[in-house]
Amino acid sequence: MCMYEADVRINGTLIWYYFICKREVWLISHGITADQEDENIEIGRFIHENAYSREKKEIDFDNFKVDVADSIDGKIIVQEVKKSSKFKKSARMQLLFYIYEIKKSGIDARGILLFPEERKREEVVLDEASQKELDSVIKDIFKIVNLEKPPIPEKCKYCRNCAYSELCWA
Ligand code: SF4
Repeated sequence: MCMYEADVRINGTLIWYYFICKREVWLISHGITADQEDENIEIGRFIHENAYSREKKEIDFDNFKVDVADSIDGKIIVQEVKKSSKFKKSARMQLLFYIYEIKKSGIDARGILLFPEERKREEVVLDEASQKELDSVIKDIFKIVNLEKPPIPEKCKYCRNCAYSELCWA
């Protein structure tokens, strides 16, 4: 049994970083912040605020916000705008997490991932398999968060642009 129980609520950010780096999940969940003002994040924010703005309405749920593009046959269509499809797995699982949370509030939803710079879009549907995968990811995130120390750093392709690189590799 774990000696240390971190008081954490799983959110979209943790789901996102789970597919990038498990150590980053631990650092973020323990409130260890790094410089978040890098250029890519700024560009991402600009795209999020401006792309498709005429189509969207933002809805606040308990611990996250989503952009609702439309509703069809009683289902809301949740859209998520991303700078590039480089982190597509993270983006997909994050959107599935939102759809899952929305479903828990009794609302049916499906999603669209938009990559305006690449003129790409992708449908995201929460089916049995993706729900199972999400359940196991959430379980694993709890395990990571409750480790006494962060997982040791492992060099990966994301380290070079990671805000924590000083902390991991100085
Ligand atoms: S620098 Fe690399 S190992 Fe460290 S948190 Fe970032 S991605 Fe993970």
